[in-house]
Amino acid sequence: MPNTAGGPPDVIIIGAGIIGACTAAYLQQQGARVTLIDRQTPGDDGAASFGNAGSLSPSSVVPTPAPGMLTKVPGWLFKEDGPLTIRWSYLPKLLPWLIGFIRAGGDVAHQRRASAALAALHAPTFDFHCALARDVGVPELIAPVEYLHVYGSEASYAGAERDWTMRREHGADFEVLDRGGLREAEPDLASHYVKGVRIRGQGRTLNPGRLVRAYVERVVANGGRLLRAEVTDIDVSGNRVSAVRTGDGTIEGDAFVLSAGAFSRKLTDRLGLGLPLDTERGYHVTCPDPGITVSHTVMEADNKFVANPMAMGVRFAGMVEMAGVDAPANPRRAEVIKRLAKRMYPKLRLDGATQWMGRRPSMPDGLPVIGPSPRHENLWLAFGHGHTGMVAGPMTGRIVAGMITGPMPNIDVTPFRADRF
Ligand SMILES: Cc1cc2nc3c(=O)[nH]c(=O)nc-3n(C[C@H](O)[C@H](O)[C@H](O)COP(=O)(O)OP(=O)(O)OC[C@H]3O[C@@H](n4cnc5c(N)ncnc54)[C@H](O)[C@@H]3O)c2cc1C
Repeated sequence: MPNTAGGPPDVIIIGAGIIGACTAAYLQQQGARVTLIDRQTPGDDGAASFGNAGSLSPSSVVPTPAPGMLTKVPGWLFKEDGPLTIRWSYLPKLLPWLIGFIRAGGDVAHQRRASAALAALHAPTFDFHCALARDVGVPELIAPVEYLHVYGSEASYAGAERDWTMRREHGADFEVLDRGGLREAEPDLASHYVKGVRIRGQGRTLNPGRLVRAYVERVVANGGRLLRAEVTDIDVSGNRVSAVRTGDGTIEGDAFVLSAGAFSRKLTDRLGLGLPLDTERGYHVTCPDPGITVSHTVMEADNKFVANPMAMGVRFAGMVEMAGVDAPANPRRAEVIKRLAKRMYPKLRLDGATQWMGRRPSMPDGLPVIGPSPRHENLWLAFGHGHTGMVAGPMTGRIVAGMITGPMPNIDVTPFRADRF
């Protein structure tokens, strides 16, 4: 898409989290002039991309809405240490999303399609991140790892059979460990875990916020612009976006990308797009002096949180809290993570631990929106990556850059279309 004078297009990207940063990097590689707009320093703690668990697992192919949600969810909601909470005052607003989520979980055909779509989006994550990180001078922020799922009972392991079948179908290379195997793999892990599954060939980042900042800094060093401003509205003329409005003025461009994570909905609602984006908020606790060794990315499968060794210490991250984007963090959720982490690693030291809440941008069907706006010929949407935005960032960036400037990567983008809702 050249500009009106036949030169490279001016692309305005709203939001410089992992999705905006990757999109900017690939657009720039393909010759576009890029402006990133973010209301905070890219990679800082207001972005989900700052404090996530840092897993770059191509085998994350199990869609979040899963069968049996209707029977499992009530049990989780009334368990103090449970992985899911809903702020009840938010329920009326959440209800349409929740219904869509439960419906997607019960639709077997959708599950298969969504899993295949996620597999294609996630497959190249490690290679793409390695190449980007090397280009921007931070190769040490990406590392290979084995991903270990641990189960506290045979029953919970048996309950995950469908997920492992799905992962196997999409090429995951894994082995099942018994109690003894677990002891050898993770000696500091509590002894009550009876089963583990170790997936080979996975990746992780040692500092997701720093990684995003490095991607953006290189875009700027290569001549891109970074504006620190909040986008408050989008101006439309006919079926084209003409400019975005910020507190500091109006910014015009040839093409626009909306990648503002969970906050994208504030702008899509203003455009009347009616997209059901909500947020699954999550929490982390990072232990700078943990007193334990964690050698894998470890998923505590019963309580659905991850332990990952990072540059800042060992990070425990997880939980889903449905409370909307604006509600303040609930420190009790981080306390629950601390309790569960200590149960997982009894020798864990929590001294100096930091805690954080972040907003996963989530669509009810478990797939992101990547592609053109149904109503605007020069606006592209890239949000809703839920639990796996770090994994999906590079391929999403390639897709959006391909749609704007070409060439397109070899992937079926139909499952990600915005007009599926
Ligand atoms: C606890 C937790 C653990 C997770 N673990 C993993 C994991 O291990 N692996 C994985 O792949 N994913 C993980 N995720 C999910 C992942 O973090 C997200 O999917 C991803 O970061 C979303 O990236 P984004 O760029 O869409 O949004 P964000 O990172 O939220 O970025 C959006 C940016 O837009 C800016 N913005 C918003 N509105 C405006 C506006 N109006 N004007 C200007 N700027 C604006 C924000 O300031 C922000 O910088 C986890 C998430 C959480 C919460």
